[in-house]
Amino acid sequence: MKNWAGNVTFGTGRHVAPGSLDELSALVANSRRIKVQGSRHSFNTIADSSETLVSLENFGEIGEPDPESRSVRIGGGVTYGQLAIHLQSRGWALSNLASLPHISVIGACATATHGSGRFNKNLSNDLLILDVMGPGGEVRNLAAGSAEAKLVAIGLGAVGIITNATVRIEPTYLVRQWVYEQLPFEVLISHFDVLSRHGYSLSLFTKWTSDFVDQMWVKERQDGLFEGRDECFGAKLATEKLHPLREMDPINCTDQLGVAGPWSERLAHFKLEFTPSAGEELQSEYFVNFEHATAAVDALRALGSELDPLLFVSEIRFIAKDDLPMSPAFGADIVAFHFTWRPLWEQVREVLPKIEALLAPLGARPHFGKLFTMQSDRLAEVYPRLSSLRNYAAELDPEGKFLNEFLTRSVFGIKSPA
Ligand SMILES: Cc1cc2nc3c(=O)[nH]c(=O)nc-3n(C[C@H](O)[C@H](O)[C@H](O)COP(=O)(O)OP(=O)(O)OC[C@H]3O[C@@H](n4cnc5c(N)ncnc54)[C@H](O)[C@@H]3O)c2cc1C
Repeated sequence: MKNWAGNVTFGTGRHVAPGSLDELSALVANSRRIKVQGSRHSFNTIADSSETLVSLENFGEIGEPDPESRSVRIGGGVTYGQLAIHLQSRGWALSNLASLPHISVIGACATATHGSGRFNKNLSNDLLILDVMGPGGEVRNLAAGSAEAKLVAIGLGAVGIITNATVRIEPTYLVRQWVYEQLPFEVLISHFDVLSRHGYSLSLFTKWTSDFVDQMWVKERQDGLFEGRDECFGAKLATEKLHPLREMDPINCTDQLGVAGPWSERLAHFKLEFTPSAGEELQSEYFVNFEHATAAVDALRALGSELDPLLFVSEIRFIAKDDLPMSPAFGADIVAFHFTWRPLWEQVREVLPKIEALLAPLGARPHFGKLFTMQSDRLAEVYPRLSSLRNYAAELDPEGKFLNEFLTRSVFGIKSPA
């Protein structure tokens, strides 16, 4: 079995999909090494195991939205797409979505997956109560807002199996989406702060080589402040629907041109009913604190001619600060620099250290679900609370049942469990 991108072949043929909590519990208790998978959209081996892989596809239940607590209870195998349809049909919504709705909620949150928006936190912040299965197969209930729940929400799959969670919801809302073309980099740099506040969600697509950001995607809540206009920071309003890759048919993209639609059909870039680009791509992403973002833009533009031949496209996004220990946005608003690579791993592997070196003075840290070459000692510097996660994992699971090669060697910088 492979991951979504097809660049990782998992290290075991033992895939199990328990049908009940008791079955899962017995499986966990009797396993030496075990790794739960979400929808397998990560690009590295974070979701790999040498012994047993577990799918929670039979844990797909979604409860009725609770208006009082403004939350909904979900099973550990639910995807954002399933949750979005369920909530929207009942008049409820999530605060944000990633670019793709097909990913599992818990798997996405485990790697701090985010959408965009200067005032939107990454998706893990909407996880509330967590039911977590430990190495003996026992389930513990972590209270919303507790220090433990905050650590486990972005637990990289190292601290047990989340079997159920409650997720924060709000009443449904409408979103309109506009795309603008050819935003001058000069304007982006000179107006970075005010521009970043534009829209509820803002994405900038570029290949770094021209003097313009090719496309600026603005998603605005109907109850928000902004309207579509012919020109925005020098960029021109698109008059037809666009795909972030100009050569691709935009049919797979969520509706644009300012047509209002439910949040569930606008916040992701790609429609639920389509699978974009069928996995023929690789991805990397680095985060820097907001105040370093323009320096990062300059650095990446300087590397543009090396990036361009390997890139399908890059995307710049904005994420609000939070207080989740393993969040790249812990204590600071951040800007995300995402790279959708052509499936050319040998060349991509050569260019990643260059990006990491260029962005190192800016404290750049990688997305844990994507491809990076940064070593564990540097990860510990840019994610200063990584040691808390490692210590918590060691205490909870001294035998390292939930660890794998990626977590032990590449992330925690410790020897692989025997
Ligand atoms: C086309 C595409 C678009 C993407 N867009 C975005 C984006 O817009 N923003 C962004 O930030 N990222 C994005 N990503 C990255 C993606 O969100 C992350 O890789 C995410 O982790 C994938 O979720 P998954 O369910 O596939 O997790 P998997 O890759 O299956 O697993 C990831 C981790 O989650 C753990 N895990 C899964 N389920 C559980 C559970 N029940 N309990 C405990 N741990 C669990 C696994 O053990 C593993 O450690 C994108 C990826 C793709 C392929």
